Amino acid sequence: MTMTGTIRTTCPYCGVGCGVLATADGRGGFDIAGDPDHPANFGRLCSKGSALGETTGLEGRLLTPRINGVQAGWDQALDLVAGRFRQTIAEHGPDSVAFYVSGQLLTEDYYVANKLMKGFIGSANIDTNSRLCMASSVAGHKRAFGSDTVPGLYEDFEQADLVVLVGSNLAWCHPVLYQRLVAAKTLRPAMKVVVVDPRRTATCDIADLHLALAPGADAALFNALLAQIVARGAVDRRFLAHVSGFAEALVAAQASDPGATGLAPADLRAFCDLWIGTEKVVTVYSQGINQSASGTDKVNAIINCHLATGRIGRPGMGPFSVTGQPNAMGGREVGGLANMLACHLELDNPAHRDAVQGFWGSPAMPTAPGLKAVDMFRAVEEGRIKALWIICTNPAVSMPDADRVAAAIRGCDFVVVSDMIAETDTTRLAHVLLPATGWAEKDGTVTNSERRISRQRALRAPAGQARHDWRILADVAARMGWGAAFAWASPAEVFAEYAALSGVAGTLGSDFDISNRAEQGADGYAAMQPFLWPDAPARQGGRFFGDGRFHTPDGKARMLPVTPQAPKAALSPDYPFRLNTGRVRDHWHTLTRTGLSPRLSAHLAEPFLEIHPDDAMRLGLAPAGLAEVTSPQGRAVLRVLVTDRVKPGEVFAPMHWTGETAPTGRVDALVASVVDPVSGQPESKAAAVRVAPF
Ligand code: SF4
Repeated sequence: MTMTGTIRTTCPYCGVGCGVLATADGRGGFDIAGDPDHPANFGRLCSKGSALGETTGLEGRLLTPRINGVQAGWDQALDLVAGRFRQTIAEHGPDSVAFYVSGQLLTEDYYVANKLMKGFIGSANIDTNSRLCMASSVAGHKRAFGSDTVPGLYEDFEQADLVVLVGSNLAWCHPVLYQRLVAAKTLRPAMKVVVVDPRRTATCDIADLHLALAPGADAALFNALLAQIVARGAVDRRFLAHVSGFAEALVAAQASDPGATGLAPADLRAFCDLWIGTEKVVTVYSQGINQSASGTDKVNAIINCHLATGRIGRPGMGPFSVTGQPNAMGGREVGGLANMLACHLELDNPAHRDAVQGFWGSPAMPTAPGLKAVDMFRAVEEGRIKALWIICTNPAVSMPDADRVAAAIRGCDFVVVSDMIAETDTTRLAHVLLPATGWAEKDGTVTNSERRISRQRALRAPAGQARHDWRILADVAARMGWGAAFAWASPAEVFAEYAALSGVAGTLGSDFDISNRAEQGADGYAAMQPFLWPDAPARQGGRFFGDGRFHTPDGKARMLPVTPQAPKAALSPDYPFRLNTGRVRDHWHTLTRTGLSPRLSAHLAEPFLEIHPDDAMRLGLAPAGLAEVTSPQGRAVLRVLVTDRVKPGEVFAPMHWTGETAPTGRVDALVASVVDPVSGQPESKAAAVRVAPF
């Protein structure tokens, strides 16, 4: 069955969350266009979104359940999964099992997975690949604001007089936001853009100033800025009445060495002049900040500057975290991380726990946080996790220290993988493979980086025997004896329950309350238009904190003292290069979808290593030759791309590829699994490696 007419849905790739119009082309595919009425993109799409129609075929799909590689029926597979999880819990306790899920999941899927693990199995061992993406932003928000709240909106990018992009290659990673920024700067040429990035990325094309700072030195930069804000009398004393911790943060900032930024004093001065001299400033940050062993501190160093100047919660100003995945925010809202409960409630708050348990009528709730991603796979390796369910993600490629993670999964007693793709590095390690529906086949919601909830809608019937993730989880829950609590007939019913729970959360002081959507019914859900939470224009035109009220116990925002830290993976004579990793323009994650599009694969067809001409010459690396890149953790063989986009001593490689023959792009096999002690997010952008001709 293929829907007729034009269906309004949402792109499944990045956190911009663009609206898409999909129209059946009569040949089994879909014509794709940007939705002119969607407030994230107003009709724009990037290369990935516009190629969605090329990636909805059956090529590579997992179409039936498999047990140990052999085709099986759904009942047989679900019975086995439920039986093994039940048996493992009975023998070893609830913390002997774990779910590892994904920011690609729809909110309804995420909600059901969390309800099953936290409310019924009674463990908090559910974590997500969003841990690799924005956990430091979550932790930084909670430390500063008392809640995981993004204060601003996309339109702030357009209303700002200065946009500072820190550790964000917006042009490639959030292309439609970049298009909006370019359009705004074209209309108002006086608007300034600063890019803070060790590497000269495509985003620098519109930069008035590019600060190629030393890798990992972002906290030193924003400490220097805070010290200058104070030295130049630019503190907003009126707003400081709403802030605590100013003096301590200032002492730390003044003790910090601006020389650690590696920037020329004139560049540092120019940055401070611009930032301090411009009231309407938005500081946008992404993985260059988050993917660090001190990412949470970096987030707070940025927020400190906005709090000291009162530049938050008003049009055209504020700190702004842009998320990598389509539903990283939705996952946060349903409590998709091992240390959270749904609707921004806290796992370690007894009143919050009791409220959620009462709402769910659940038999058991964990009282302590579960294992975060890196620790979860370490527990798998050590045999403490004996049954693991991986849903909609490919950790054997994407986790840091990926070879070790793959070996850990291979050694686990019982591994279930739900995926739409048959052959991935992770599906090959599964005892039970469950075919899941993908984009174009499933219905639900996602939340983008500005807190706007949009609908994904099914365009056609599921491929083969594929089932929706929420349905698979509910079927397993029923087989484990909890059918009454998982008896939804549709994602609309899941959403209604989740929205009602947010009303309970609202009575406990949570900022996340969408309970006015709980009673809309299936028709209302089907027709749902993108909406902000809180529903605009509830507060400050949809912005938080302009009124100076925060979600901390005393209602004040907190400035944090930040002492800059060098990257944890130390350089040495054996491993003298600093490896930065990231995305390319036309590919997504581990290529399982975008790799199906010839057009997208034409942009950059192979895994590569950007290296400075001086280093390439010294090492005898020929352009377009092969380089072997080695770290204490692993090895990759990459095509040499000689470029002065990177500085001497620094190299860059994209994170999408895998493969058995050269070039082999298992770049996350090179990355050490060191993490931020607050957020648990790994340091994916500062590995120490050796480079040699292959
Ligand atoms: Fe999709 Fe992001 Fe491109 Fe928009 S910017 S079309 S959400 S990949």
